[in-house]
Amino acid sequence: MKIAGILPHSLVNGEGVRYVVFLQGCPHHCHGCQNPDTWDFNGGKEVSVIDIAEDYKNTKCLDGITLSGGEPFAQQEACVELLKLLPDMNVWIYTGYEYENIQNTELAKLADVLVVGQFVESLKCEGKMYGSSNQRIVRTERER
Ligand code: SF4
Repeated sequence: MKIAGILPHSLVNGEGVRYVVFLQGCPHHCHGCQNPDTWDFNGGKEVSVIDIAEDYKNTKCLDGITLSGGEPFAQQEACVELLKLLPDMNVWIYTGYEYENIQNTELAKLADVLVVGQFVESLKCEGKMYGSSNQRIVRTERER
């Protein structure tokens, strides 16, 4: 899995205390993106999903895992592999894709919550769990 970084405890990337994996590589290039360093698919560092899963399990006081970007759906296979190693965890995924474009993917089906849509600078908002008001929080009916 190609990652830009990991935040072991975050309060702003989903509900509760979350372990956040920022994937490296994003095809959307939203104007005003706060993480343009994550765009380059050749950047970041390669980390094994087994190591990330172990690190998650060894990190205390977590309510769940969040995959953000970059674009997690650009690395679906690795993300699915990671989430299958953490089967009972609460999962949020932030994506620049609209829900209709990803809802039938295996990765989307492993999420409890999907935050969908590209960032639009003119609709930027503060204090929410998304960056601009066009983005949507979709609570899935995940099968466990
Ligand atoms: S989808 Fe997210 S990471 Fe990608 S350019 Fe847009 S805001 Fe940045």
